[in-house]
Amino acid sequence: MTTLRLEIDLGFEDDGEYPYTLNRTYLRKARSKDDSQTSPPPAIITVTDATLIHRGSYVRVYRAKMYGPQGQVRDIIAKIAFSEGEHLILKEGKFYENQLFSLQGDAVPRCFGFFEVEYELETISALLLEDCGTVMKGSFFEADMPTKLKLLEKLDKIHGAGLVHLDIAPRNVVTKDGELFWIDFEHSARHACPRTHTVRPGEFKPNVGDFGCVELYEFIERLGFWKSTYVNFHGFTVALQAVNSPQVLYDSVYADSLETEEEREQVWQDAIKAYKAVAEDHKLYASLLRKRKQQRMSGQNVV
Ligand SMILES: [Zn+2]
Repeated sequence: MTTLRLEIDLGFEDDGEYPYTLNRTYLRKARSKDDSQTSPPPAIITVTDATLIHRGSYVRVYRAKMYGPQGQVRDIIAKIAFSEGEHLILKEGKFYENQLFSLQGDAVPRCFGFFEVEYELETISALLLEDCGTVMKGSFFEADMPTKLKLLEKLDKIHGAGLVHLDIAPRNVVTKDGELFWIDFEHSARHACPRTHTVRPGEFKPNVGDFGCVELYEFIERLGFWKSTYVNFHGFTVALQAVNSPQVLYDSVYADSLETEEEREQVWQDAIKAYKAVAEDHKLYASLLRKRKQQRMSGQNVV
């Protein structure tokens, strides 16, 4: 049994029990008979030097130091919950020790275990995770291409491992030494990913139904990977498949913008220019739509 000596002031008034001693609860489901019989040697780890970095309604998050049984030191994140919040970090701990087990240190931080103790009328529980750095800055769209590809690859691995994140935001990505990690699985759920095909930046946007997985689809949209299938012209939006001539763009503009000869000439010149810019895409997209239609009619998987 591993015990945790928790040297964090949790603000109880009569704190004779400080520092708290919590016991590890192993959340990994036994894969085999041998697995279930393995019981690790007793050890004590200490968590100290804590700084509160987030105080939620049910869960407090601290940046702290963890001293292992042989005195080894690690920077960690300690998520501490009291009775009402226990189920949130317990659920997250189960995901880390099961679905995310093989992705620890790659797509997600390492997990050092879930611990708990009954204290007065409360349960104190703690989930210890590797400190994988600072929260990503800016939006997903603004990130550079290698970052975007890495984020997608890692989210895809999480889906492949059987989870949907359900709280996709830059605040749930941390970065350390050039590596990226997805964090915060409190809202996640089990998932059999129905994604049907690989993604190459610059492709036309597929239908969500054809793509399969909604979370990955929406994330790829946010990355700006897909080529738009709409053309913006003088404040109007026209479907790319309809733009087979400059006339289509010209006709999309309201008549009151075309009152004088000068205005008409200007809009017409703009329409020629805009059409030239999208003519190639229009052809490619029209042929893709034809292909999709044929595939649908023959019952094949649409790519
Ligand atoms: Zn999925």
